[in-house]
Order: sequence, then structure tokens, then C-alpha cells
Amino acid sequence: MSEFTKTLCPYCGVGCGLEVSPPAQLNKATNRDNEGNPIWRVRGDKTHPSSQGMVCVKGATIAESLDKNRLHYPMVRDSLDQEFRRVSWDEAFDVIVKRIQTVRLTQGPEAICMYGSGQFQTEDYYIAQKFMKGCLGSNNFDANSRLCMSSAVAGYIQSFGADGPPCCYEDLELTDCAFLIGTNAAECHPIAFNRLAKYHKKNRKVKMIVVDPRRTPTAETADLHLAIRPGTDIDLLNGIAHLLMRWNYVDTMFVDDCTSNFPAYAEVIRHYPPEVVARECGISIEDLETAARYWGESQRVLSLWSMGINQSSEGTAKVRTIINLHLMTGQIGKPGAGPFSLTGQPNAMGGREAGGLAHLLPGYRLIKNPQHRAEIEEFWRLQPGQISPHPGLTAWDMITGLENNAVGLLWIAATNPAVSMPDLERTKKALWRSPFTIYQDAYYPTETTAYAHVLLPAAQWGEKTGVMTNSERMVTLCQAFRQPPRQAKPDWEIFAEVGRRLGFTKEFAFANSAEVYAEFVQLTKNRPCDMTGISHAQLQVQGPTQWPHQEEDAGTRGRGD
Ligand code: SF4
Repeated sequence: MSEFTKTLCPYCGVGCGLEVSPPAQLNKATNRDNEGNPIWRVRGDKTHPSSQGMVCVKGATIAESLDKNRLHYPMVRDSLDQEFRRVSWDEAFDVIVKRIQTVRLTQGPEAICMYGSGQFQTEDYYIAQKFMKGCLGSNNFDANSRLCMSSAVAGYIQSFGADGPPCCYEDLELTDCAFLIGTNAAECHPIAFNRLAKYHKKNRKVKMIVVDPRRTPTAETADLHLAIRPGTDIDLLNGIAHLLMRWNYVDTMFVDDCTSNFPAYAEVIRHYPPEVVARECGISIEDLETAARYWGESQRVLSLWSMGINQSSEGTAKVRTIINLHLMTGQIGKPGAGPFSLTGQPNAMGGREAGGLAHLLPGYRLIKNPQHRAEIEEFWRLQPGQISPHPGLTAWDMITGLENNAVGLLWIAATNPAVSMPDLERTKKALWRSPFTIYQDAYYPTETTAYAHVLLPAAQWGEKTGVMTNSERMVTLCQAFRQPPRQAKPDWEIFAEVGRRLGFTKEFAFANSAEVYAEFVQLTKNRPCDMTGISHAQLQVQGPTQWPHQEEDAGTRGRGD
């Protein structure tokens, strides 16, 4: 048996493969941190197709976070000004179940909210959806991905009807022109960026354009840095489109065959002449023309973006404007080309697959779509019409719901909203008003602990076996390599146990996370994210696998295997 356990770095959406081994090994000095504490060894997994053995400093030092400030026991208190008291899991579950039943009866299921996390494994996400949207009848599940890449989700869905990014990391090494906008990938997605930077350095004909108001390390490596005024991204993108149209770079065959409403788009673009755009963006006409020329003259153009585009009041429009440029020039659906959103969190993609936002259902389905609801109702054996046709409360809606007493129970898991939500003072005031907050986390204390009535100790990523999907749709099995400390449990097990205690015993009769995943992938059959050929056992044998990966691909790794 190998001394290493293969897993995935749980820090960012690049999704680098790791190999982890225990601090103490035969004939080796015990591995220790700076303070002399034994610490797990971590190295990059050379067989992982996304990262090819590379790992950044965050991934390399992940083991340091395993034991610090862990929450070990369930704790409860009646009000926020009291001290917590340690209780058994039984007592904690009783308190939670009673409160859920009370809120369902007095305020209805729509007063129950869960705020989850892109740090969940897919099994955690799936069980949370079944629990909330299926069994309780509340679509109020949202995740911290709402603050991260939900604009990319909305933009992809509006343009393509589905939000699976159409690109992969191999495209980084096949493109003629990389167009990076609103992303400091050199620091935020370092391993994906390394692949691009190495390729760019070796191939001097390859162009790299970076659009960022700041001179970031990413911008330092560019052939052309467009330091536009903050908030003028759409002007710039439409200005490039204007020049490409003027210079006849429109792929008319692609536009005719694969797009709709092009004349309306062309009419909008007419209003972005270079002199206006350059003035608005605060750049020279010459630089604008250079960017358009690089795009137009390249056989394969790859756009990359992250939070500089997504985290904006007009984030969805920005995403669609990027996609429109690709559609207009036919720069999509071929190697080295396409609009590629880099996700921030390690399993934001798994969250999308499992329906882990307030407007989604598992298998890239939408709550607003009656057929999608009917399919899920049938699979979960619910009554027809049982899933509400209305999207649930988003992360921010939950905060305003607390303000106006619409929320009777808030369950927060694997995230720290007292630090990460926008408008923090308002958020904290709202959290303080919550009549009942369950906070399920691996760590104690965190800033959110102060706002909880119940604390539930969760297992860390290395203490439970589950699946994560990275930015390029690569699905990796994260195998547990150690036991959860004291009484901590995997998130999905906690949700499932509460479900069973509420009477949904058949719905949550899972013996392990492999069974959870096996049920989940059935809901992806014939969907854009078809993963019916993927299972824990297959991932263990074949290694990371990219979707779509259908039943007939089972036993292979896809990708031409
Ligand atoms: S790039 Fe992201 S996934 Fe890779 S090692 Fe660094 S933090 Fe982890």
C-alpha cells in the first residue's frame, strides 16, 4: 500500500492534485512544523492532469491548518449573550429537530435557510439540496459561491443555456492569444497561470493581453497591459468588438449557424467607436487597436476572468459581453479558444453540479423550469409540485430576511459570513437578530461563532472522503487520510442524520459517501454535466476524470483514453 494518499488542494478552484503522508514514517525523521509539532507531509501529485505535480505555497503548507483551532464538540446556548455549553450529538440533534419542526409549523418551510460553501465536497452539497429543497420544501439554500462566481453562472446560462465552462487547462497551452480580464491569476490561480506563462514564454508569437487597472504580477508578464479605468470593462469589450466588426473579423458562418439576434448586438456595438471607448477607459486608441488586432489576427483566442469581472453590480453583463466577443468571432468550441471563468473556490463547480445555489437543482437544472422540477420530484419520490417554483433566498436575501423577521432558522456551514459577506456591519447586525442560528464548521472560534446558538463540529476535507470538481470540470476523489478530531463529523452525515430524525429515513439511508455520490450522478444523466460514468471506485482506479463522462465511458478517464 502506498504511503501517500491522493487528494486535492482545498484552497482554490485551480484544483491541484496533492499527495499526503503521515508525519511519522518508518526509517524517517518525524516531519514537524516550526514549533516542533508533528505535521503531515504534502507534495504535488505528478499524475494529476490539472496541476502535473505543481503546487503553490498555499497547497504546500495546507497541513499546518489541520489541527489549529478545531471545534471538537457540539455546543448550544439559548441566547447569544450566554456562554456555550457542551452537549452530546443526540442533544444537539434534538434541539435542531425541534426548532425545525416549530419553524415549519409557525412560519412555514420558507423561513428555513441554509448558507453553505464552495468548500463543501459534492456529497455535502447534494445531501443539503435533498434535505432543503426536497424534504423540507425550502429552496433557501445558497452558498458563498454567490459572492464569488455566480455572475459567471448567470452569464453562461443566459448565453448558452448551461453554465459549464466550455474550456480546460490544455487550452492554456494551445491558444494564440490569451485575454485575461479582471483576474490576477499569477497570484490567485498560480498553478493554472504557470502553465500559461511557461507556454507564453516559450512561444513568442503567442500574445497575452491583461486588462486590469492595476499593474499586477499578471500584468507584468503581458505583451499588452490595458490599465482601464475601474468599471469600464464593458466599454472596452464592446470597443474591441466595434473594431473587429469594422475590420471584418466577424465569423459570419458561425454567427449564422450558432447564434441569434446578431443584428441587435451589432447595433449596440455601433455605439462604441474607438475614440469614445479610449476616452471612457482612459487608454490610448493605439492600445485599443492593438488589443483588437491581436484578437482578430489570432486563430485561437482564450479569455480568462475571475473576481474582477464576477464581483460587480454588472458582473453578469460583463460575462455576457466577453462571451459575445467569442461568439462574434467564432472563438469557441475549438482547442485553445473560448470564454473561461476561473472559479475561486475548490468545489464551486461541484456546487453548480449538485444544484447548490438558490436558483438551481441538481444536474444543472433550474428551479424555474417546470420540467426540471418534475424530473427531480420524480427521482426523489416527492409529490408532483412539491418543489416550489420560486428560487430561494440568495445569501444577501437571507441577511435582509433576518432584518425583516422572515427568517426563523439559519443554518451556516463551512463558511464564515461575519468576515466574508459584503456590508459587514449590516450583516453582523442582521446575524445578531437571528432567532436561531446553527453554525457547522471545522474551526472554533471564528468571527461567526459569536452569532450562533448551536455549534456543530465538522470534519475537515482530509477527514472525509468525497469529490471535488475544479475550474476545468476535472473531478477528483479526495480521500480521507486521517480521522476527524474528537466528535467532528462530515457535513453530509450531519444533514442526513437531521433528515432521518425528521422522519426522512429512506431518503437518507446512505452507508457512506460513495453511495451518496452514486445517487447524485444518476441525476446528471443526459445533462451537460453527465457524470454517470464516474464513481468513487472509478476515480480511485482511473484517477481524476473530466466531465462529461457518461456511463459508456465508465472505466476510462475520458480525454481520449
Ligand atoms: S493553485 Fe490553488 S489549488 Fe493549486 S496548490 Fe495553490 S491554492 Fe491549491
